[in-house]
Amino acid sequence: MSEALQGFDAYVCHPQFGNELVRGRFVLVWNALRFESESRTSPFVLPLEMALLKLEDDGDWISLSDRRQPDLQFQVSSAILELDLFVRAVPIRRQLEKVLGRREWMRRIKVSLLFLLGFLVLAWGSSFLMAWGVRSVVRGISAQREIEFGDKAFRKIERHLVLLNNTNVLPQLAALSAPLLAAVPVKGIPFQFYLSAGPPNAFALPGGRIIVTSGLLELMDTPEQLLAVVAHESAHVAQRHAFQQIIAGQGPIFLMEILSGGQDKMLNVLAFPSELLAYESFSQKYEREADALGWEYLVKARINPHGMIEALKKLRATEAAAGESQRGSAYASHPDLDRRLQWLEAKWQALPHPNGFLTLTNPVPKVAGDRRLEPLLIRLRT
Ligand SMILES: [Zn+2]
Repeated sequence: MSEALQGFDAYVCHPQFGNELVRGRFVLVWNALRFESESRTSPFVLPLEMALLKLEDDGDWISLSDRRQPDLQFQVSSAILELDLFVRAVPIRRQLEKVLGRREWMRRIKVSLLFLLGFLVLAWGSSFLMAWGVRSVVRGISAQREIEFGDKAFRKIERHLVLLNNTNVLPQLAALSAPLLAAVPVKGIPFQFYLSAGPPNAFALPGGRIIVTSGLLELMDTPEQLLAVVAHESAHVAQRHAFQQIIAGQGPIFLMEILSGGQDKMLNVLAFPSELLAYESFSQKYEREADALGWEYLVKARINPHGMIEALKKLRATEAAAGESQRGSAYASHPDLDRRLQWLEAKWQALPHPNGFLTLTNPVPKVAGDRRLEPLLIRLRT
């Protein structure tokens, strides 16, 4: 005997049964479903044109109700959807088309969303891969080549600077920074300081040159503030941010070529260091990293890292006061200085033991007579 004749598992719920589910079977007879159960003598008859269909989410059951008696509710096994006579009956087919049409629409939305999500994951993944590729290429550059690059870059940059060599500031600066620089993890890279006349600024070159201006020394009140700036710059050197920025700037195809053995191409790019601005304006990603690592070096050297917050605040104030004429400063080129400061403040709050730092007795070395040189420097820069 076929299932159509045997009927399909079903339940009915009606106030007459105290709203409890009564088990029975649905049998299709002509254009009506007949509900039969052992507990009831006369069966319910649900004409198909009166049937309201609702597909349940779990897919095993479908709900049916009677338009004429809304409190009469049925559930029937979804196996009934395999019965041609049922699904082809016009009132049922219309409802099914509507419900399935809506489901198809939802399915398409889901597919589009999944596609979008996949695209975002892919974009994130490829930028992650790109950063990883850049770092691994940059790690492969020898210290020797880094120093050569730094020498060449410095020769190009020199003419933009007003170097002050006849002062005793440089040995003082080196002595003050020595404990900090000992905490910076670089191999075969000697840090050297250079002093240039000019408004507050500092930057570093591959190979370990750190250039500070007389204006910076003038602005910094405590050795902690000055060392924070040095720590930030030394992190740019340790992370080889200049190389990372140059390689990343060449694009992914260039990177793939180097990774697949095209070393000459990289050497060509590194053979011609660019002018000053390439070392002053790092992307925010590198700036944040230099802040974070500089902070770590300071803590490791037992130098109070709060100096970094103070130094950035001072630089921000100078930048605001000087406006446009400060455009050449590495710190003026950091548009999200406020966000960096917020982040550093949070770091300070989270520091487990914000004491036990060294008491630094060396004063910040100052350059006398700097003011006379500033107009000359501004002319040179613009
Ligand atoms: Zn920086």
